Amino acid sequence: MEAVLDQVRVKPQPRRVFMLGVALALAVVIFAIDTLSPLDMAIAVLYAVVVLFLTNEVERRTLLLVGAACVGLTMLSFTIMHRENYNLASVMRCIVSIAAISVTTLLSLKNQKATRALREQADLLDLSHDAVFVRGDSDIITYWNQGAERLYGWPRAEAVGRKASQLLHTVFPESPLEIREAVHRAGRWEGELSHTRRDGTPVVVMSRWSLQRDARGRPIATMETNSDITQRKRAEDGLHQAQAELAHVTRVATMGELTASIAHEINQPLAAVVTNGEACLRWLGRDVPDLGEAKSAVEQMIRNGRRASEVVARLRALARRGEPLRLPVDINEATGEALLLLERELSNHRVALDLSLDPKGPHVLGDRVQLQQVLINLALNAIQAMDAVPEARRCLHLETSTRDEAGQRRVLIKITDTGPGVDPQNLPLLFNAFYSTKSDGMGMGLSISRSIIEAHNGLVSATLVEGGGMCFSVTLSEHEEPSS
Ligand code: ADP
Repeated sequence: MEAVLDQVRVKPQPRRVFMLGVALALAVVIFAIDTLSPLDMAIAVLYAVVVLFLTNEVERRTLLLVGAACVGLTMLSFTIMHRENYNLASVMRCIVSIAAISVTTLLSLKNQKATRALREQADLLDLSHDAVFVRGDSDIITYWNQGAERLYGWPRAEAVGRKASQLLHTVFPESPLEIREAVHRAGRWEGELSHTRRDGTPVVVMSRWSLQRDARGRPIATMETNSDITQRKRAEDGLHQAQAELAHVTRVATMGELTASIAHEINQPLAAVVTNGEACLRWLGRDVPDLGEAKSAVEQMIRNGRRASEVVARLRALARRGEPLRLPVDINEATGEALLLLERELSNHRVALDLSLDPKGPHVLGDRVQLQQVLINLALNAIQAMDAVPEARRCLHLETSTRDEAGQRRVLIKITDTGPGVDPQNLPLLFNAFYSTKSDGMGMGLSISRSIIEAHNGLVSATLVEGGGMCFSVTLSEHEEPSS
């Protein structure tokens, strides 16, 4: 393609002058042979070479003039040579030569027109803001538009003829061989690529490849259209980072709300350690030390010490800030752990717990801490909301189950309360950031919960329960543990 376009691009002036000079010299030589040589041949036919020589060098009008001049020279030679004694053979030779020159000129003009149309179409590619280039055999660049010049900083003259992946230091999202196979199979490919500009700066592009085939269906070239998405990627990364930070901050804030429960969780086993320690001393201080009782007191101490350290470990896990993980999580186990931190909250708010766990112990793929954060957020909201109803009616239902949904195994976690619910018209607002009806509420809990669940390719929704209360449902894809 580039070769064709090169032919039709406007030639620089010195080159044109040179070519015209060569053509003129050629015409003079032909004229001399035609006029002076005694050969009985249609030498003037060779003027067609002069016309062909200039086809891609001069514009339409000049070419027409060149053709006319060649015809004129042919007739001039004929007149000089056969002024007195012209015969049928020489007239026929002259006519054949003039016909050859005319036909060549006409065909050359037609060729020029077709090439110009092609150039205009190709120039359209230069209007594109995207980088468009064509790669032929062995990844060699054969066409390079202005968008590519702008994006990569390589001028056309330097890019054409180079290997694309080497010139742009392409980093592929999968093996280049696999991409090549996909292009040959489907005729197209789309994906993100990382390139390096001429000045060494990186650029991320959304790349679309289309395969060009010849009449027999054999691949001959690939057109690559690349749009710069570096800024967008940077913004997305920033957003991802900001969301992670926010999730961490709200998690720590939630832990702040749980201070009473946490203190109790740690205090209880520690108090038991002290009691057991005292009992142990008493058993040992007897006239005849009761070693059996002392041993069991020490064992109790160890158990309680372990329990306290487990709570601390769980808290540290919740407070940890790190990249979200994608690991199998036993949903029942994760729910149980989250409830341990909520135990005190439930009793403080006089809320009964109704737990119904799927006996199969379903797993999902995700970040245990983040999923627990969601459960704690939802349960804490429910517990707090139930402050508005009489104690006897306060009950938190927590249910895990699995089901088939459009042929996919799903895990469902339902958190239902018997509180006052919300005004139906506010239901769509619940998951909005900063929506809160609490005087000290941040309004981030549900919004963060939703982004966590969506990042796990799941869904979270809220519905009003008939007779009062709210039900929050979290749906996630079930992760089938490989049977060992
Ligand atoms: P916050 O708890 O800081 O207000 P959330 O995003 O967790 O922020 O909750 C937003 C709002 O949704 C709450 O202020 C409350 O009005 C409402 N809400 C959430 N859960 C419940 C519930 N179980 N029952 C009633 N209202 C709820």
